[in-house]
Amino acid sequence: MNHKKLYIDTVGCQMNVNDSERIVTMLQPLGYTQTSRRHEAALILFNTCTVRAGAEECLLQNIANLKNLKRKKPGTLIGVAGCVAQQMGAELLQKFPWVDLVFGTHNLHLVPEMVKDAEAGRRRAETDFLDSSERLDLFPPIEGRKRVSAFVTVMQGCDNFCSYCIVPYVRGREISRRFAEILQEVQDLADQGVREVVLLGQNVNSYGLKGEEQPSFAELVRAVAAVSGIDRVRFVTSHPKDMSDDLIACFADLTKLCGSLHLPAQAGNNRILKAMNRGYSREHYLETIYKLRQARPEIKITGDMIVGFPGETEAEFEETLSLMEEVRYFDLFSFVYSPRPGTKAAELSDELAKEVKLARLDRLQKLQAVHSRIHNEAYVGSTQQVLVEGLAKRHGQVSGRCDSGRIVNLAGSPALIGKLVDVKILEGYANSLLGELTEPMRSGH
Ligand code: SAM
Ligand code: SF4
Repeated sequence: MNHKKLYIDTVGCQMNVNDSERIVTMLQPLGYTQTSRRHEAALILFNTCTVRAGAEECLLQNIANLKNLKRKKPGTLIGVAGCVAQQMGAELLQKFPWVDLVFGTHNLHLVPEMVKDAEAGRRRAETDFLDSSERLDLFPPIEGRKRVSAFVTVMQGCDNFCSYCIVPYVRGREISRRFAEILQEVQDLADQGVREVVLLGQNVNSYGLKGEEQPSFAELVRAVAAVSGIDRVRFVTSHPKDMSDDLIACFADLTKLCGSLHLPAQAGNNRILKAMNRGYSREHYLETIYKLRQARPEIKITGDMIVGFPGETEAEFEETLSLMEEVRYFDLFSFVYSPRPGTKAAELSDELAKEVKLARLDRLQKLQAVHSRIHNEAYVGSTQQVLVEGLAKRHGQVSGRCDSGRIVNLAGSPALIGKLVDVKILEGYANSLLGELTEPMRSGH
């Protein structure tokens, strides 16, 4: 077979990471293998994000920069996938005549034929949304995942229409995959040596809420945790309004369910939460955190926050800081509000000045740095169960994650990869921990 190299540049959420893995699998029969060196690629693909304006601007600049490359190596194919592709569609072909293919978030299955067309000189853009019944049959397995932890998509799309967010417009309506198919995929992964699955969805815990006879997300988590060979289960991203008591109870009942939860609040003030159309209040959010801590006292909560939503006053912003003090996030992804075309919030007239937004972001991030450091330092001296996932950057070390998802590096041989080991934590850094095996490895292991 003709061997060609595929370079794929993925930005944005885990859904994009998962889609990119699927694209790589689908292009294997056409002779494409992935490379990390762009200069040797026969096909360069951008899997894109449009959640904030910055990522989109950066992408457009990257594509513009490829004009020269295409002139020097006209045989190189260039493609755009993901949310920007969905939003701009054929406009990308017009704007950048050196782009060969554009495919939206519901058109992944067309990639092989579109690449064949591009090889034959036919440029195409495909961005039609599919209806739910068509989409349900479009989850080809991802091959070649020789790894310890794997993502499994369980639902796609979003129907929440938070007023600032473009996702519902570019990912389409919410659908949940078939229960039995998900379990089969998890079993297949376990048979291939995967020890941890991360259930993935834009609002993963609204799984099943739209289907008539669908089991709930809590039932799915219980069933996945019961698959033999799987030692750990995680899920991301959960919406606070859909955290059912049954799902919270899973943290008390299931030892395989890891003790961390990504539960974005977005803001700490009720007027702003309402304007964001989030569907919960500060009090409800805090009540959920309280129940989670009753179910699993050591649970680590991570989140997302937006600062500088239109009209946010100083006092309203300070309620975000006070929410952070109450929750004590383990990690927090924080963003300056970015108006996105077509969203309700983009029509609001009271956008804040950039300096005000950046100053608030800075205050928020400084506070979070203190909280993250306190969390990391609290690990020192404790023993954590670590699932070793691969080699660390430093020679002679391997790397894995503890229950909370924090990266732990430790001295050890590659034979540890795929094993759950007890590790004594020696040092806590900003984003990782350093530890040592509590029981030294026997020789030969
Ligand atoms: N579905 C998830 C949820 O509701 O938490 C998150 C999906 S979104 C891709 C990831 C994060 O981007 C959001 O949690 C939000 O904090 C941020 N985000 C989305 N739209 C934004 C905007 N217009 N400006 C700034 N941040 C935004
Ligand atoms: Fe965007 Fe809200 Fe949907 Fe999350 S829940 S993807 S923030 S609209």
